[in-house]
Amino acid sequence: MQPTNGFYGEFGGAFIPEMLYPNVNELENEYQEIINSEDFQDEFRNLLRDYVGRPTPLYFSKNLSEIYQTNIFLKREDLNHTGAHKINNTIGQILLAKRLGKQRIIAETGAGQHGVATATACALAGMKCSVFMGEVDIQRQAPNVKRMELLGAEVIPATSGSKTLKDATNEAIREWINNPVDTHYIIGSVVGPHPYPDMVAQFQSVISEEIKVQLKELIGNENPDHVIACVGGGSNAIGAFYHFIDNGQTNLIAVEAGGLGVDSGKTAATIALGKKGIIHGSKTFLMQTNDGQIVEPHSISAGLDYPGIGPVHAYLADSGKGKVVSVTDEEAIKAGIFLSRKEGIIPALESAHALAYLEKEKFGKDDIVVVNLSGRGDKDLATYQKYI
Ligand SMILES: *Cc1c(COP(=O)(O)O)cnc(C)c1O
Repeated sequence: MQPTNGFYGEFGGAFIPEMLYPNVNELENEYQEIINSEDFQDEFRNLLRDYVGRPTPLYFSKNLSEIYQTNIFLKREDLNHTGAHKINNTIGQILLAKRLGKQRIIAETGAGQHGVATATACALAGMKCSVFMGEVDIQRQAPNVKRMELLGAEVIPATSGSKTLKDATNEAIREWINNPVDTHYIIGSVVGPHPYPDMVAQFQSVISEEIKVQLKELIGNENPDHVIACVGGGSNAIGAFYHFIDNGQTNLIAVEAGGLGVDSGKTAATIALGKKGIIHGSKTFLMQTNDGQIVEPHSISAGLDYPGIGPVHAYLADSGKGKVVSVTDEEAIKAGIFLSRKEGIIPALESAHALAYLEKEKFGKDDIVVVNLSGRGDKDLATYQKYI
């Protein structure tokens, strides 16, 4: 699924301040050729295999399959180095940055997961790394701040606005404008101005590429009937959907964070509630007031706590090619504890949203259902603890 001139239908584009044009233009002119070169693909594939630990297993969950009376496979992105899918993207972007002659990386992070994945890739590639993080998040996510610092990154507090993710993003963009020549900005999901959504989707598409090969080997058919993934910005979801879009067979199910409930005022269900608008350089659905101010989202999982959604998901939802649903904080917690006890796998709270959807739809006895387990739950122990 590639955008046309930077757009997925009416969504996407690069709505950026003029000061940012040189940076974004350079990327747009170069990224396709670099990513598609043999030299890049060799280095990227080797690192995914030997450093990240790919391919990740596609695990047939006998226990869940019996309980839900269908065939459930878990794509184990939780087994990647650093514990989630985010590393697929940061490794890809660091190799791109090197080929663009950049010496320094900046990134924004909310919960710190993308910051850790970026700091990891920078340590590996010998790049200087600065991560912008809201002051409030620095306090809430202290272990990830320590990880980034141990990995050699500098964590810069964002002190404006609500002192959270969107403020960190604004400050990272400001920093990039001031350092267009030597600095590359690694965005952590399929959001931001073109070409980021497409670039990140290409790096994450390795997930569905592997699912195809693995399903073919396991059941003799490479296309599942359903793929379920949680969606914050949407990078693990599009990675899991990528090679199944338009095959006429696979239902693509994106699960948003409903928070306390879609109508509770404390939610991150962007497609359910959002209206069209522009956020971080891209036209998509976003949660906003009547006069266009961004509404603070809420989710129990920090990784889904984003007021927008990647333009490709806005397009899939709007065109009916994909389905977007939501589950609440409580349903996600329950599903996370359930998987821990039924399979001995503690999922990230983000991934638990995808699992919670298994309660909501009755799948056929012969259906093949793939759930993308985007990350592991060690980081969420304190939250789980309150519910057991
Ligand atoms: C960051 C994160 C997410 C949400 O980001 P997407 O871009 O929507 O994938 C989901 N799961 C985990 C484990 C994460 O760390």
